[in-house]
Amino acid sequence: MKIQKICILGGGTSGWMTAAGLSNKYKDLDISIELVESDQIGTVGVGEATLPHIRFFNQALGIDERDFMRATRATFKLGIEFCDWGALGDSYIHPFGDYGEPINGVDFHHFWLRLLQNGHNFRLDDYSFPILAAESGKFQIPGSDNTKIGSNFGYAYQFDSTLYAKFLRSYCEDNGVVRTEGKVVDAALYPETGFVKSIELENGTQIEADLFIDCSGFRGVLIEQQLKTGYDDWSQWLPCNRAVAVPCEAAGPSLPYTRATARPAGWQWRIPLQHRTGNGHVYWNEFISDDEATHQLMSTLEGPALADPKQLYFKTGKRRKLWNKNVVAIGLSGGFLEPLESTSIHLIQEGITALIELFPDANFEGSDAVEYNRRMDLNFDRVRDFLLLHYVATQRDDSEMWRYFRNMTLPESLQEKIEAWNARGYLLRYEQGVFLPPSWVAVMAGQNLIPSAYDRRANTLSYEDVLRKTEKIRHDSHAAVANTPDHGAYLDQYGAKAAFEPLTVPSAPAQF
Ligand SMILES: Cc1cc2nc3c(=O)[nH]c(=O)nc-3n(C[C@H](O)[C@H](O)[C@H](O)COP(=O)(O)OP(=O)(O)OC[C@H]3O[C@@H](n4cnc5c(N)ncnc54)[C@H](O)[C@@H]3O)c2cc1C
Repeated sequence: MKIQKICILGGGTSGWMTAAGLSNKYKDLDISIELVESDQIGTVGVGEATLPHIRFFNQALGIDERDFMRATRATFKLGIEFCDWGALGDSYIHPFGDYGEPINGVDFHHFWLRLLQNGHNFRLDDYSFPILAAESGKFQIPGSDNTKIGSNFGYAYQFDSTLYAKFLRSYCEDNGVVRTEGKVVDAALYPETGFVKSIELENGTQIEADLFIDCSGFRGVLIEQQLKTGYDDWSQWLPCNRAVAVPCEAAGPSLPYTRATARPAGWQWRIPLQHRTGNGHVYWNEFISDDEATHQLMSTLEGPALADPKQLYFKTGKRRKLWNKNVVAIGLSGGFLEPLESTSIHLIQEGITALIELFPDANFEGSDAVEYNRRMDLNFDRVRDFLLLHYVATQRDDSEMWRYFRNMTLPESLQEKIEAWNARGYLLRYEQGVFLPPSWVAVMAGQNLIPSAYDRRANTLSYEDVLRKTEKIRHDSHAAVANTPDHGAYLDQYGAKAAFEPLTVPSAPAQF
């Protein structure tokens, strides 16, 4: 028997992305999709920085990039700048792209390590076009020849995720998705299987479906409140458990990168959109009060606040099974890892892709769910390790929080990865996982983990050849940036800039 009806519970970013992905794939297959959301509950209302993969999601939906950028007031994103992570005063950019290019099949960073060992002091960043472009506030869409410096990088967006959900809603409704407004107050389960039969709205309406997608946010209305799936709590590794977020007026030109600045009890984000800048302070409440965290945030805004600060509470980790019985949890209902590397929307996308590939029949073969959970568990594990790397690859010990990370037992997978890097710049390859070797190089080298040796094959070239080849890459990268337009001007020229009224500062801003 085939699935005939899908019910998506939740109309945040995850709900509408899921509805868009499924309605695009199944529109001619006689499957009806109904999305239920509650205006009374609302959405989490944060989530502005993304990874390059979102472009492929939009492309698969047939969405025009310019329409999308205007609708969501998006800017381009070349990477994330990390300030004060390795040591106070340090900064580096994690770019969406490789450093240099392999020489004779050997990764570029080994040649850079050889230069360092010979007393040169070149920044690895000088061999990365996206880093140099970000530092200069420049951007243009990569050209079609991806072997050419200036075209061999990825990019993502910084956008208003509430506007994205709204944009996708109209896409979905055009594709036949039915939206129902109402608060879900209960669910009926089949007594013999424990599968969800229907959900019940506050007004008494019952909605039946074969497959339920739980996109209800942190509540996990079906996956947890009904199915009691359980949660793997990862607070021992990623203990930050609160955030306060506030938008402010933008100051200066819009920048093509996100900034994450380490703080004594957490870190702070700054995400420049077309019409405003998003800001937030993620922190561990063990070492800072909500008031103090809010004060730190408000006192470092680059312009006047445009709303009252919004407080958020979370526990890092993931649901024990993201697919349980006939319920698949996508988005915050499935788990949450702090937004340090903009991974949540990406994990939503991974969940949708895996569901489409493993789409079940109505008799729900157990193997579909097992494989889905295996894939998603790996994705979550990899992100957890990568985030944790930022906290442990550091010389900081100037506060309780930083000292906590010094004494931590790491997950084995991360421990092995760091050891292989430290020994000779080797990057253990993972099965699954969004972050490829250049991302690991960016964070490890950026936070001053410099391997004691490098790949011996980097010695097969004479030192003069290494100098000549690396210098050409450095020179070409700088030259390509010199020919790249300013990001703000490019948004306009590309047709991505929205026409909008400037936002106003509320008349009675909160006092701190
Ligand atoms: C501090 C913070 C910063 C973040 N920054 C980023 C970032 O920069 N980049 C990134 O990729 N991600 C980020 N995220 C994550 C991102 O916000 C979420 O992944 C994304 O918004 C998806 O949320 P969601 O749709 O799963 O849940 P929500 O937005 O909470 O939506 C839940 C939906 O379920 C509905 N609902 C809930 N209960 C019921 C009920 N009983 N009946 C009916 N409807 C119900 C709600 O009305 C709502 O429509 C951040 C998250 C936090 C907490």
